[in-house]
Amino acid sequence: MQRDAGQQALDAHEGPWDFIVIGGGATGLGTAIEAASRGYDTLLLEQHDFAKATSSRSTKLVHGGVRYLQQGNISLVLEALKERGRLQKNAPHLVHNLAFVVPNYDWWEGPFYGIGMKVYDMLAGRQNFGRSKHLNLDETLEYLPTIEPKGLRGGVIYYDGQFDDARLAVNMAQTFVEQGGTALNYMKVTDLLKADDGYVNGVVAECQETGTTMNIEARAVINATGIFTDSIRKMDDPTVSNTLRPAQGTHIVLDRSFLPGEAAIMIPKTDDGRVLFAIPWNDRVVVGTTDEEVDGPEMEPIPMQKELDFLVEHAGRYLTKDPTPDDVLSVFAGIRPLVTDPTDPGASDTSEISRDHVLHISNNGLVTISGGKWTTYRQMAEDTIDQAATLANVEERPSVTADLHIHGWHEHAEQFGDFSKYGSDAPALKGLVRETPELNEQLDERLPMRAVQVVWGVRHEMARSVEDILARRTRSLLLNAQASIDVAPRVAEIMAEEMGRDQAWQDEQVEAFIEVANDYKMPT
Ligand SMILES: Cc1cc2nc3c(=O)[nH]c(=O)nc-3n(C[C@H](O)[C@H](O)[C@H](O)COP(=O)(O)OP(=O)(O)OC[C@H]3O[C@@H](n4cnc5c(N)ncnc54)[C@H](O)[C@@H]3O)c2cc1C
Repeated sequence: MQRDAGQQALDAHEGPWDFIVIGGGATGLGTAIEAASRGYDTLLLEQHDFAKATSSRSTKLVHGGVRYLQQGNISLVLEALKERGRLQKNAPHLVHNLAFVVPNYDWWEGPFYGIGMKVYDMLAGRQNFGRSKHLNLDETLEYLPTIEPKGLRGGVIYYDGQFDDARLAVNMAQTFVEQGGTALNYMKVTDLLKADDGYVNGVVAECQETGTTMNIEARAVINATGIFTDSIRKMDDPTVSNTLRPAQGTHIVLDRSFLPGEAAIMIPKTDDGRVLFAIPWNDRVVVGTTDEEVDGPEMEPIPMQKELDFLVEHAGRYLTKDPTPDDVLSVFAGIRPLVTDPTDPGASDTSEISRDHVLHISNNGLVTISGGKWTTYRQMAEDTIDQAATLANVEERPSVTADLHIHGWHEHAEQFGDFSKYGSDAPALKGLVRETPELNEQLDERLPMRAVQVVWGVRHEMARSVEDILARRTRSLLLNAQASIDVAPRVAEIMAEEMGRDQAWQDEQVEAFIEVANDYKMPT
């Protein structure tokens, strides 16, 4: 997957595309794969990097959503559990089974959550990741050696999925290209094209690297821009009202010693009524998330001090070793693309808005798919292309994605050690290291990152900037913000060599990265 090849395919393309998908997050990438794998001629345009917005900032769970069960939204849970099973089957190198323990401090919590988890097991049916069960006090402490023991009665264990969101997004972009699609990052849609009768029949796109603008025609245009969904809807009709209700969620990242062992902690109800997770991930612990209504969509949402205080305090409440702000290695925030139905914009606060997805086709034929969650992207995409194919007047073809392997698919990727997340690409990375042993250099002892990953990201994963490498091709920025800042000049140097860039480019890249990365450090 190379950007130059994508640009050449775009330049050489004659006639309208069947579909243009705007947005390279989970929803847009899923929709693009869905279209290309059915044999439709499809172009995907992403204004920044793949998964730059919400899709790299999730809690990294492939889950049915225990919370939606509490809310009684059984159909959403059923759909998500089905998709959870499919995703684990289609991307086993990135999706893993994880044990979650709900610690019980009150007498009623054991039976209450025990029954809830049995319902969860039942809904998962044959796709179950493992049976839930009650744990006595000793068993709970065995799974969670650092859980606060004062007042602890026992726990309930259940199983769900965990993944690497940005890596999955990159592998999805590669899958799309392998299915015959054309993908370009750093290509922003600035306007929509319309036929004389007002029907949306293309986009105006601006290359963010060269500033070049081009008109691109399509039989149908699909808006999959997450928190930016209303900006595209307004290009179609400036009078439409906003449907997005942005709610920010923040995570803090701690050293693994705060939660050793293989299980995660799930607190069903914190002071603000939210579910709180503490999850082992990439040899760190991710604690999150909050839910704060914010004014508007932001490409780089900044965690609020009160969210950070809440997370540090709550982590301390449930762990024997209380973290201080100095223990926080990184912080990251994302904005949930919660949407009200354009035909029914009623709900009064964000917690009332359904986590279901909303598919809408405007009077001018703009298809908008929004809401939902990472776990359900494939079902959202299938629904979207079913509708969009009729609208575009192309031959109807059945979906094949339920069994389509995602790029990197490998059933035993753990055998590749440090490169396990690359799945079937891992032998090629190892091959590069064999050819050029210097590429085995670990760039910083605080980060699980080798020079070869930078080279691979540039050559095969369309990484264009130091931030693309440190934030999404590797997850260094989320694992240790300060270490990422320190390693940025070396990453820029390796990239410049690969891409034929000069010292000025390196300096610019490092400066831009540091500006972003400073907001991933815990404020002092
Ligand atoms: C804190 C938090 C935790 C979450 N945890 C989980 C979880 O554990 N599990 C789960 O299943 N879900 C989770 N979710 C939900 C999930 O992350 C989102 O539903 C999903 O990532 C949304 O993907 P998207 O593609 O719709 O939006 P985005 O990822 O925001 O993608 C939209 C893309 O459109 C691009 N774009 C916008 N305008 C333009 C334009 N004019 N031209 C070109 N491109 C454009 C943007 O740059 C962006 O990349 C979480 C969400 C949050 C906020």
